[in-house]
Amino acid sequence: MVVDVTLYKAAMVLGAVGDALGYRNGEWEFCYEGETIHNDLHELGGVRNIKVDKKDWRVSDDTVMHLATADALVEFQQGADKEKLYSLVAREYKECMNDMSGRAPGQTCMQFCDALKPNLPAGYQIPFNARGGGCGAAMRAMCIGLRYPFPEDLSDLIAVSIESGRMTHHHPTGFLGSFAAALFTSYAIQKKPLVSWGAGLIKELTRAKEYIREQGRFVEENVEAWIYFEDSWNGYLTLRNIKNGNTDKQFPEQFGVKERERFYQAVSFSGWGGSSGHDAPMIAYDGLLGCGEDWEELCNRAMFHGGDNDSTGSIAGCWFGALYGLENVPENNYINLEYRDRLEKAADDLYNIRVGSKTSEQKPAFKSTETDGDCTTNVDNTQEAFDGSEGNEKATDEQELSAEQDNIEEPTKVCTAL
Ligand SMILES: [Mg+2]
Repeated sequence: MVVDVTLYKAAMVLGAVGDALGYRNGEWEFCYEGETIHNDLHELGGVRNIKVDKKDWRVSDDTVMHLATADALVEFQQGADKEKLYSLVAREYKECMNDMSGRAPGQTCMQFCDALKPNLPAGYQIPFNARGGGCGAAMRAMCIGLRYPFPEDLSDLIAVSIESGRMTHHHPTGFLGSFAAALFTSYAIQKKPLVSWGAGLIKELTRAKEYIREQGRFVEENVEAWIYFEDSWNGYLTLRNIKNGNTDKQFPEQFGVKERERFYQAVSFSGWGGSSGHDAPMIAYDGLLGCGEDWEELCNRAMFHGGDNDSTGSIAGCWFGALYGLENVPENNYINLEYRDRLEKAADDLYNIRVGSKTSEQKPAFKSTETDGDCTTNVDNTQEAFDGSEGNEKATDEQELSAEQDNIEEPTKVCTAL
């Protein structure tokens, strides 16, 4: 299998395009009605008519932090002790907070980036946080899958996605979002069948949990809080009929703007679809499953909705680029994109570090994964506590967050609402 560098570039660039489209300088990220966004979109002449640039369509915190992750991975290169990499990631996360003016950074990211001490041993580590389930770790992790794209890279992908994720989101709902974002990017590069990705995630969660145990940091808290992410994904995959990874996907007959809105709310922690670590990659994946390789349809599903649409847009855009490239994306959506040069340079470097160095190695065998089990739980979107949501943090910037508050609730009952 040949991996083309243009897919790496498209992944980094379209991730940022998805962010900019969902964000629309804050207007659409904080518009909670998908229908309003689609009405606005219609007036603009549809996504194909949008000229993304740094004035009217700035990238938001998602892209700034994604670039921070990529820059650390590039500087680290390979072979050195991972502690060095984690210090670099922590340094980049801390520094990138200086570039957040007008980009609506999440409260958890700001709070914990400020607390990171990259120059000290283990200064990248923070305690378990019962309120750390937001999507801020997921939105910046896709490039980890570009750095570790092959099946034999999986243990590195697990370690780096989890450690970089829990630098700000030390809760499984948060850092497993980082793991999923990275894992699915690697699956895109591997050309794994799309319907098998979710089953692959469920299977590899076992290894992720083993990693947490091996590291020995806040094991009991993490294991206890683990089930929400896993059950949410099992319920979703069962609903789409792809739990085993080798069956045809199933969508409702009618699945327009209104129906998607209800669905995204139903899978969310408490009403803002995509704002947590479990549902940001889930909504992005659902958009990819439903778009049929059509960029405009992906945008309709994953970028233009009343949830945390810049984060779901970042993730979905990146995966779309890694799968299909830029060929069917209108040039005006990306040609004047803010930070396009930086994104393409990062993509080039990530490609050369791993894929370029692999040309003389034996090509890996890519296999679909299988899993089994039952859908037993679902998200209760009536919960008042919103400690698993990045979006709530944005909506409550003025409120003081308590890292000690422990009110994560177990997900409730089956997926009939989906
Ligand atoms: Mg954002």
